[in-house]
Amino acid sequence: MSNQKPNVPLFDLTRQWSEVRDDVHAALERVFATQQFILGPEVAALEKECATYLKVKRAVAVSSGTDALLASLMALGVGAGDEVITTTFTFFATAGVIHRLGARPVFVDIDARDFNLDPGKVAAAITPRTKAVVPVHLYGQAADMDALKAAAPGVPLVEDCCQAIGTEYRGTPVGGIGTFGCFSFFPTKNLGAFGDGGLVTTNDEALAEKLADMRVHGMRPKYVHHFVGGNFRLDAMQAAILRVKLQRLPRWIAKRQAGAAHYRELFASAGLAGTVTLPAELPGRGHTYHQYVVRVPKRDALREYLATQGVGAEIYYPISLHEQQCFSELGYRRGDFPESEKAEAEVLALPIFPELRPDERERVVAAIVGFYRRP
Ligand SMILES: *Cc1c(COP(=O)(O)O)cnc(C)c1O
Repeated sequence: MSNQKPNVPLFDLTRQWSEVRDDVHAALERVFATQQFILGPEVAALEKECATYLKVKRAVAVSSGTDALLASLMALGVGAGDEVITTTFTFFATAGVIHRLGARPVFVDIDARDFNLDPGKVAAAITPRTKAVVPVHLYGQAADMDALKAAAPGVPLVEDCCQAIGTEYRGTPVGGIGTFGCFSFFPTKNLGAFGDGGLVTTNDEALAEKLADMRVHGMRPKYVHHFVGGNFRLDAMQAAILRVKLQRLPRWIAKRQAGAAHYRELFASAGLAGTVTLPAELPGRGHTYHQYVVRVPKRDALREYLATQGVGAEIYYPISLHEQQCFSELGYRRGDFPESEKAEAEVLALPIFPELRPDERERVVAAIVGFYRRP
């Protein structure tokens, strides 16, 4: 027998499987019995349940978070010659969809406290060609939506909620504050499918109808096409599984938040204040802790040390989008967005999934203490 302690994984979906297994099997049997695999009643039911949970008029299920963003921008008519403002510190898809439509991603720096779009810098980036602003609720923490609305009066906001399902901004769930909310059901997100999936939310009935048509090649009725859409459909199996998991999501989110509170206590008693900067708790700006991200000195060495201690950690994101090679034609350079460039060198995501045990969090913090106390 080995004395080695088991690893503390950054993320482990297998722990959730035993909890949902029976219900998922039953849900899949239901779909198999109908042999109806694309859209249909399971998808319609998921949309209704998501709309209720997210307190929006309409929810349209789509094939991925990327396609949720793409279809939303298409529904707003974003195309060649347009500019869309977004953050340079996010997952690639946020800006990739803007570029794919022939529009120009206009990057803006982040607020150092919450890693989200800095509203003051958004105001300065608005031009007559600005067609939309895409704020990201990064790591699960709500962006400053009132300040963003004030910074971009009359410009549609497309919320990238891919990391923030269930997050509240001043008591309102994100996704219902801007013109559209875009969600991802990628398996590792807080509500994950068994494959790809996504959702668009809106309080505008006409735009919801447009989105629903966009998802099926702009078709209504059958074989009559009013505009060019795409195949952005969700399948019935994913919808049936997501309905099982949606029921448990509030409890899972509460566990993530309890885990974050536990980390705060552990770090406080470890005496690392001033070394490890914890996620900021800002008034009105809910956080569902899709990721628990700290800022640390000597980040890469710490991460390597944690790996030797069996503790998983990851960097979201190591390269800001304005520095990505595929966007070199946009003319940005290193130094353009100092806060984002600082963040990419300092951020480290620690394990935070709902099934993570208190003793595992203690091991994570003990390992970090061990690193900074080394001679
Ligand atoms: C995951 C994610 C996406 C893309 O979602 P997919 O479902 O993987 O296409 C977009 N934006 C952000 C911020 C994400 O985290």
